[in-house]
Amino acid sequence: MGMRFQILGSSSSGNCALLETDDTCILIDAGFSGRKLKTLLRAAGRSVDDLHGVFITHEHGDHATGVKGLSQQRPDLPFFANYDTAQAVQRPLKRDVRWVLFETHKQFKFRDLEITSCLIPHDAYEPVAYTFATGGHDLFNPYRKLAWITDLGHTTDHVRELAADADVLVLESNHDPDLLANDPFRPYSVKARISGQHGHLSNEAAASFLQSFHRPRWRHLYLAHLSKDCNEPDRVDHSIRGAGCRCAHTVVDPTAPAQEPLDLLAL
Ligand SMILES: [Zn+2]
Ligand SMILES: [Zn+2]
Repeated sequence: MGMRFQILGSSSSGNCALLETDDTCILIDAGFSGRKLKTLLRAAGRSVDDLHGVFITHEHGDHATGVKGLSQQRPDLPFFANYDTAQAVQRPLKRDVRWVLFETHKQFKFRDLEITSCLIPHDAYEPVAYTFATGGHDLFNPYRKLAWITDLGHTTDHVRELAADADVLVLESNHDPDLLANDPFRPYSVKARISGQHGHLSNEAAASFLQSFHRPRWRHLYLAHLSKDCNEPDRVDHSIRGAGCRCAHTVVDPTAPAQEPLDLLAL
């Protein structure tokens, strides 16, 4: 199998992806209710019982709301997070979650995965981006790495490092600044938060980040965490193409069902 990746859903209303290797089956974020996650997993041919762990980026509901339902169903299931994120997710819950804590920026192993995390500028306790890597030990199992980078107000040198050598890059392209400015439902304070230094990447910011790499290793890009109200997949696609990005890419439609799985060995 090598590495298989599938985004089960991604937008400002909920984020979750399934990552599988020969030995391991994990979720990256759990931003849907336990019931919805069960349905999404079933549609992907998996069940909550197949999971070996769940990696949480930060405590916002669109990333962590499913921790409650999943841990009720699987009290043995490990949830990986740094201390501050685990505390923030645990606080409102009655039942103790089985947390496995890591230190941000410190690499660690889980089964056949190597994981790195990096602090990102976002209005949460200690939000992180992740990379997950596997393989490289023999010809039949080449090294593959996935980077998951959403929920950041701006990019940093650490984020650049994380993205640079990934085979598959998931990057936030949250909003179109014009649609956000003209949105009649969000008060000014919310608009300022979203577009601020600790908010979310706009389409332009995501495109110029991608454009700033001269020889990226990426074989596939996902533009994700789109705002349902303040973005449109066509606008994201336009800004990515405008940035001269020739790499295969998928704009994750916030209203569409799960993406098709991607086999990283076939890239
Ligand atoms: Zn967030
Ligand atoms: Zn989010």
